[in-house]
Amino acid sequence: QADIAMYQAKKAGGKTLYFFDHSMQQTIMDRASLDLDLRQAIAEKDQFQLFYQAQVDSCDRVIGAEALIRWMSPTRGMVSPLDFISIAEESGLIEPIGYWVLSTACQQLVDWAQQPETSHLTLAVNLSAKQIRMPSFVDEVLALLDSTGANPTKLKLEITESILLENMEDIVEKMISLKARGVNFSIDDFGTGYSSLQYLKCLPLDQLKIDQSFVRDLAFDSNDRTIVRTIIAMATSLGLDVIAEGVETEEQLKLLKSKGCKTFQGYLFGKPVPIAEFTIALK
Ligand code: C2E
Ligand code: MG
Ligand code: MG
Ligand code: MG
Repeated sequence: QADIAMYQAKKAGGKTLYFFDHSMQQTIMDRASLDLDLRQAIAEKDQFQLFYQAQVDSCDRVIGAEALIRWMSPTRGMVSPLDFISIAEESGLIEPIGYWVLSTACQQLVDWAQQPETSHLTLAVNLSAKQIRMPSFVDEVLALLDSTGANPTKLKLEITESILLENMEDIVEKMISLKARGVNFSIDDFGTGYSSLQYLKCLPLDQLKIDQSFVRDLAFDSNDRTIVRTIIAMATSLGLDVIAEGVETEEQLKLLKSKGCKTFQGYLFGKPVPIAEFTIALK
């Protein structure tokens, strides 16, 4: 146990770390043990699963899905990405995990392309900052598209504004290369980041995804209504699509529609589910 903590301390860059606080030491050991379990999970990739959440148009038709990773740990049960993605980012494990996600998503697109009922579906995949900063990122995505035969125009990569805070030139260049092959880009959690809106005019974007924090209180909070209306107006003027996430009620849907939003995602239409369930719900 102490070894694990030391290992973690060394990895964090320090030469020596003194644990005065038991709860702090516990937290570090919890993280170290999560990190070890995650390494095991990467070795046995069947511990990961992609869940699919529907994205629908104004007529309730499913036009695509967002892929959301789940970790089925033999000891921890189902672990939410909120509890392991940031740790995976710190340890670099996000690179093999992100690759697995992209490769699984591309295979799914190929499966969908083979059936007339599913061939129109797009698939959104979340990218982490560390993943897109890898020098090999563009080549890896292009190689996956080639080897699987997935249609790049059905793949939508979601990035957050925080990804753009550092070394934006590098990110722009990578996005342009992938865009040239037909890959789409969406800004996830739009409106919650600290980056300037400057990027909206230099990135090859297709979509803004209104964060669920603006959708949640739409019926009660006139500020949220103003923000949502403004995001939609701006996106439309810039020629970008808009999708609202976290839509849970008919009232939220009605308000979003009245403001010009045309695409939606949220529990109102379906929770993220395993692929078999997603496919059944389509029929
Ligand atoms: P996100 O990309 O913003 O995904 C939306 C999150 O909101 C998902 O949580 C989804 O299950 C949840 N959600 C969807 N509809 C509703 C709704 O109507 N109400 C509420 N309250 N929540 C809703 P999830 O699956 O736990 O994922 C959390 C975050 O983890 C994602 O946020 C994304 O940032 C990250 N993530 C998930 N999968 C991946 C992945 O494969 N790679 C990376 N790098 N990050 C991922
Ligand atoms: Mg997302
Ligand atoms: Mg989001
Ligand atoms: Mg979010």
